[in-house]
Amino acid sequence: MSRVVGLRCLTCGADYPVSGMFEGCPKCRRGEFASNLNLEYDLAPLRGLTRRALEEWTGPGIWRFAPLLPVEREDCRVTLGEGNTPLLICPRLSRDAGVELWVKDESRNPTWSYKDRLACVATSKALELGAKVTTMASTGNHGAATAAYAARAGLDCVIFTLPTVPQAMVSLMLSYGAKVVATTFYGRWELMAHCVREYGWYPMGNYLMALPTGNPFGLDGYKTLAFEICIQRHWDVPDAVFVPVGYGEGFRGIWRGFCDMRDLGLIEKVPAMVAVEPEGGPICNALKKGATIPERVPAKQSVAFSINGDYTSVGSMVTIRESGGSGVEVTDAEIMSAQALLGLEGFYPEPSSAASVAGALKLAREGRLRDVRSVVCILTSTGLKDPAATAAVRPGPPAIEPRVSELMRALKETYGFDPGA
Ligand SMILES: [Zn+2]
Repeated sequence: MSRVVGLRCLTCGADYPVSGMFEGCPKCRRGEFASNLNLEYDLAPLRGLTRRALEEWTGPGIWRFAPLLPVEREDCRVTLGEGNTPLLICPRLSRDAGVELWVKDESRNPTWSYKDRLACVATSKALELGAKVTTMASTGNHGAATAAYAARAGLDCVIFTLPTVPQAMVSLMLSYGAKVVATTFYGRWELMAHCVREYGWYPMGNYLMALPTGNPFGLDGYKTLAFEICIQRHWDVPDAVFVPVGYGEGFRGIWRGFCDMRDLGLIEKVPAMVAVEPEGGPICNALKKGATIPERVPAKQSVAFSINGDYTSVGSMVTIRESGGSGVEVTDAEIMSAQALLGLEGFYPEPSSAASVAGALKLAREGRLRDVRSVVCILTSTGLKDPAATAAVRPGPPAIEPRVSELMRALKETYGFDPGA
């Protein structure tokens, strides 16, 4: 069992004792700038761990990896059977892209998104710390996961959302018994901040008007994605991992998982982490300017609403730097094209999730994956959360009279399919 020894600032390196610090590094905080604190572990008790031994760890859901997660009390570990999602190659997309293109299908999680990994660990930590209420400002997946794990843990849960959020997302949150309120874009953070500071509600993610700092415990839930990728690929680490990125918690967490495996001597190389975001996003804006600190970019429309933030975290930029990674921006058309191509491989991801594959295909087209053998794209959530996005670009089926001649005509005209050919 490793042990969490403190929190460390990603910008100034200051160390803090483990506590409920959710607003980033106090020393670095200036105006809109806030720097993430990440957990520091003492891995010494795990020295000598072999690949075989780690593969044989057992436990419910992602608690299989409990020795590398920040919740010590076993009776506080909540699970809905998250994790252990399939890692599958896409044969046709691989052929087109000229690299092995694998997808990690995170839609197989309990609330159909990878946010379950975060919610699992953050909610368990809330129990360990004695919290009574968890809270989150979310446009969807994060809120659904927060609500489900609160229900499982027997905690009250308040979710702040926007009036524009797809009905499927709201229905999920309400079904899990969360108290959901819709309010304004910035108002949801103001209200959440008040309730965290005044009532001691436990924040499952960001509530700052500054650069997002999130929940460092929940962030480490994403480490388990990297552990699973290492095991599922028999320790053949992919050259690059493509992640749809908004605030960059998943992006950072996955990278931290690969770092754990490296620091324990279980892998030698680590993947380049590639952040994929909607066109005009804050990461590519900062990279183009050569800036290490992301700045706010103008708000825009995108079909990928789950990752369509006007800013990102310091952690996103640090992850790109540490991993030798990069950023790529994709248009709505590229995202919806990737969603359609993934459908032909048997996957139906949310548009935001298809962005990871859209990013990989774009770099392949631009000849930027020539030295790359294999990539893993994270499909973070299911398309069933936002079917309207697909319906908007895909005509409905033809309605026909029940006659064979009509069927043949419709198959040919609509789908170019001729059964007699
Ligand atoms: Zn600092």
